[in-house]
Amino acid sequence: MNPGGDTVEKSIVIIGAGIAGLSAGCYARMNGYKTTIVEMHNKPGGLCTAWQRKGYTFDGCIHWLVGSRPGNDPMRQGWEELGAVQGKMIIDHDIFMVIEDGKGGSFTVYENADKLEKEMLRVAPEDGREIKKFTADIKKFSEMHPGAAETGIFEKASGFLKIIPALISMIKYAVMDVRKFKKRFKNPFLSLAMGKIFGNIEEFTALGLVFTLAWMHERNAGYPVGGSLEFINSIEERYLQLGGEVFYNSAVDKIIVEDGRAAGVKLNNGGVIKADTVISAADGHKTIYDMLEGKFKDKKIDRIYSSFRRFPSIMQVSMGAAMDFAGRPQSIDFPLDKPITAGDGVNDRMSLRIYAFDKTMAPEGCTALTTYLAGDFEYWTKLRVNDKKKYDEEKKRIAAEVIETVDKKFPGFGKSVEVTDVATPATYERYTGNWMGSFEGWLMTPKTMLTKIPDTLPGLKDFYMIGQWVMPGGGLPSGLMTGKEVIKKLCGLDGIQFTVNKP
Ligand SMILES: Cc1cc2nc3c(=O)[nH]c(=O)nc-3n(C[C@H](O)[C@H](O)[C@H](O)COP(=O)(O)OP(=O)(O)OC[C@H]3O[C@@H](n4cnc5c(N)ncnc54)[C@H](O)[C@@H]3O)c2cc1C
Repeated sequence: MNPGGDTVEKSIVIIGAGIAGLSAGCYARMNGYKTTIVEMHNKPGGLCTAWQRKGYTFDGCIHWLVGSRPGNDPMRQGWEELGAVQGKMIIDHDIFMVIEDGKGGSFTVYENADKLEKEMLRVAPEDGREIKKFTADIKKFSEMHPGAAETGIFEKASGFLKIIPALISMIKYAVMDVRKFKKRFKNPFLSLAMGKIFGNIEEFTALGLVFTLAWMHERNAGYPVGGSLEFINSIEERYLQLGGEVFYNSAVDKIIVEDGRAAGVKLNNGGVIKADTVISAADGHKTIYDMLEGKFKDKKIDRIYSSFRRFPSIMQVSMGAAMDFAGRPQSIDFPLDKPITAGDGVNDRMSLRIYAFDKTMAPEGCTALTTYLAGDFEYWTKLRVNDKKKYDEEKKRIAAEVIETVDKKFPGFGKSVEVTDVATPATYERYTGNWMGSFEGWLMTPKTMLTKIPDTLPGLKDFYMIGQWVMPGGGLPSGLMTGKEVIKKLCGLDGIQFTVNKP
């Protein structure tokens, strides 16, 4: 029985206990479906994860959570429905990151757009006109909350009229990638910095950059203390409290198809779980080409999977140091004297994330630090299979080079390091199954933004796909939204009123 009083006896099997799978699981339970999540790893989270080593927690995901600010923003409502944010302290940083030029100069990326504008003008007075347009757009975007509070038709219409100028600007940024956008600034350092803010991925649409800064400006993209692990554990707890079932260490090998409909899953240990509907919240490529053996696809799907740009695979080097970094900015990006390379992955700069702001991440007086480096997927995956000894040595070499670099910046750091951990693209693939070790699915480029990625497959009934592989740009919101939408759709098909509740 769902809270609306309708009886639902249908069963759903969901592949993957990442944010998308858990979101679908929670909303399905809120609406009375019988749900089983099957997850290949021994814990929930997928990419939204963290790992603990010698008293330190190394976070692998959340930098900012869109929808973190209490209020009626639909995203915040969603996180509350999943029990993800209640009771959690949210940190809204003053400084997003500090970008150094290596010659003694730096640019501070403030989260407040007025402070950011002042700082941009300090660094590049010659770009005044562009800077003012940019920060005005950040503020304009931060006021966009379509559908959040308006209930009546007049409220809705006036809300829409208010956002028209922002919609026009949106189109301008959507068709421009970061590479093109940064060329608008004449000052070479400011131009370089614009490319660094969003993780150095220049194919990304400039819209993503402006929106992220807009969410930060309106204090709606904060960091939940406890990071990814506590965040995802709260959602798993919510799912279990709603009566959902989950099996860990259970990798799906094949999706069972009977009479043109998805009828369940076959696990790689031979187990079979039958259901009325199958939802894959796992990697898109694996779902279509392996679990379904490429039998349900068309030219559009082949074109997407063969030509669309993915977020790259990366390495994460994590360090636990008996050193207090209190008061330091959360992130510093600086050039390296000597590049750090592995395979084709070349890093001539480093972005160091300093978790001094979250005391739960390290013992008292100590600090957890992480950095992402460019990863060469083929290099690392082949090395791991062909020469595990060399693979481990390479990880040690990279960790040593990173520590040496950080030591130059913060003398004494090297000696204070108590534990290191290196995750390679092979690690991402092994633990989350994401195609080519991608860390966030499809890149949101001007091209992918205009394409609707299919969430159903031709010729296959009772089957849906959710998560970062059906929503370019990925991120935790893609999991929340696609998980919620698919259950809304199922409720519609089953003739029941979609209902939500909060813990
Ligand atoms: C370094 C980093 C930083 C990030 N920072 C942010 C951030 O600040 N904010 C933000 O919003 N997002 C961030 N993201 C992105 C975000 O983590 C992902 O986009 C999101 O977690 C993807 O969720 P998902 O459920 O779609 O996929 P996944 O997390 O990949 O989940 C898929 C699940 O399916 C399981 N699975 C796969 N194959 C099988 C199988 N055959 N059988 C059973 N189970 C299977 C996997 O083990 C996994 O648990 C970051 C990601 C990374 C890596």
